[in-house]
Amino acid sequence: MTFKDQIKRRRTFGIISHPDAGKTTLTEKLLLFGGAIQEAGAVKNNKIKKTATSDFMEIERQRGISVATSVLAFLYKDKKINILDTPGHKDFAEDTFRTLTAVDSVIVVIDVAKGVEEQTEKLVEVCRMRSIPMIVFINKLDREGKDAFDLLDEVEQKLGLSVTPLSFPIGMGYDFKGIYNIYEKNINLFSGDSKKNIEETIAFDDLDSPELETIIGKSAAETLRENLELVQGVYPEFDRDSYLKGKLQPVFFGSALNNFGVRELLDCFIEIAPPPESKMAEERLVRAEEKALTGFVFKIHANMDPKHRDRLAFVKIVSGTFERNKPYLHVRHDKKLKFSSPNAFFAEKKEIVDISYPGDIVGLHDTGNFKIGDTLTEGEKLHYKGIPSFSPEHFRYINNADPMKAKQLYKGIDQLMDEGVAQLFTLEMNGRKIIGTVGALQFEVIQYRLEHEYGAKCSYENFPVYKACWVDPDDPKNEEFKEFKRVKQKFLAKDKGGQLVFLADSQFSLQMTQQKYPTVKLHFTSEFD
Ligand code: GDP
Repeated sequence: MTFKDQIKRRRTFGIISHPDAGKTTLTEKLLLFGGAIQEAGAVKNNKIKKTATSDFMEIERQRGISVATSVLAFLYKDKKINILDTPGHKDFAEDTFRTLTAVDSVIVVIDVAKGVEEQTEKLVEVCRMRSIPMIVFINKLDREGKDAFDLLDEVEQKLGLSVTPLSFPIGMGYDFKGIYNIYEKNINLFSGDSKKNIEETIAFDDLDSPELETIIGKSAAETLRENLELVQGVYPEFDRDSYLKGKLQPVFFGSALNNFGVRELLDCFIEIAPPPESKMAEERLVRAEEKALTGFVFKIHANMDPKHRDRLAFVKIVSGTFERNKPYLHVRHDKKLKFSSPNAFFAEKKEIVDISYPGDIVGLHDTGNFKIGDTLTEGEKLHYKGIPSFSPEHFRYINNADPMKAKQLYKGIDQLMDEGVAQLFTLEMNGRKIIGTVGALQFEVIQYRLEHEYGAKCSYENFPVYKACWVDPDDPKNEEFKEFKRVKQKFLAKDKGGQLVFLADSQFSLQMTQQKYPTVKLHFTSEFD
């Protein structure tokens, strides 16, 4: 197979959803289709549960599971499919945002009864901003839920999407009879048998045929005809180009648990979803077909053995091939590195591979060389962008609780921040360190890991911050900016990359500051134009 064919056959995507919508179940069914796993239950749910807050071993165990399910790859028909795991738990939202920089498309899972939920809104917004192609899967049709049209409206309004259904349910819940596949023009009847792997479908391109009544009954047939007429009248026809540009989102209905509607989703997905194409670096646009390797680290995972402090850096290959034992340039360190055991992922396992292609993810063993956002090349000084930090939600002073172990503490903090566990801010005024996290859970994870992996102890102290804002003055030399820095001195800090950050203590003070210093722009993410 040529290099170009290898690229064309790859589909690297993420499944996003609010917790409990059915992401894990859908992932598992997709893997079953690929023959990558033999039975249900093989994919572990890596949900970090709230109850785990006080049980550190539980957090560790769950972290272990999430290493295993970070990338799930399988073959289906002639395609190589890479699913990147995205934690649904909001405390780990930043992980998910970063993973979304490594996907070429996304499937959004929505619970038919709950409709659009909070986490879905946030994640879809990120995808929309980056024009990532999205397919929507409305799940749990075997249960009573919202009316399909109401749900489509809700998806459009709350998620700001422009949808077009490619399948449509026949009944729902107790009356769920099956799905009409608009894309393939056939009917798939629901038998409620979850053990069934491949479903029977009936080709049906003429919906006026009286046969429809005999198959699904008179009133269901009438309703279906009416509904499809409405679909045709209201929604735009599917157009792949618009989908690829992130301007149109096809919608499928089904029941992941019953493996129903999943094949339709997968078959359509492999046909329409994009292979890896190109990615913007700071210097230039890099095309996947370029021969020289380029890739970037989007995730770092500490390994399970705390004594070795061994980490796995996940690299998305953007162009060229990644080969075992070949030297590559670590751009930030300006240093060549070789990797003797790069890991590839297959189903729920990882294994050493000799060669990987654009779209693939390789896991590199790392002892502290990498941080999130690092670029690897064959020599070119290239920097991939698009892994911004978002304002954390919780802030605390971090103090050293064991004066003998200061060095260990700072090293530990440094490495955990590189992994993206949390963000570190250093106050301008006195050099005190503040940790900012998305969820309160991370503070405990950090404390636990500092102790068990670095032999250091820390304590926390509250520091009331409403939002961290990255400071972007129109003119760094003007009087306004000087005054801003003088007056707000107490609230200014540097992030780990040295960027100036304003730690607003309330929404009110943020608004007042914005009004008073209009030429000093304040951003909620670390990257802006
Ligand atoms: P995740 O948090 O999004 O990964 O959700 P899971 O896949 O763990 O599913 C959450 C719960 O919903 C589990 O109890 C599943 O068995 C259930 N579930 C998933 N898909 C369906 C479905 O199609 N129908 C029904 N009735 N339940 C489902």
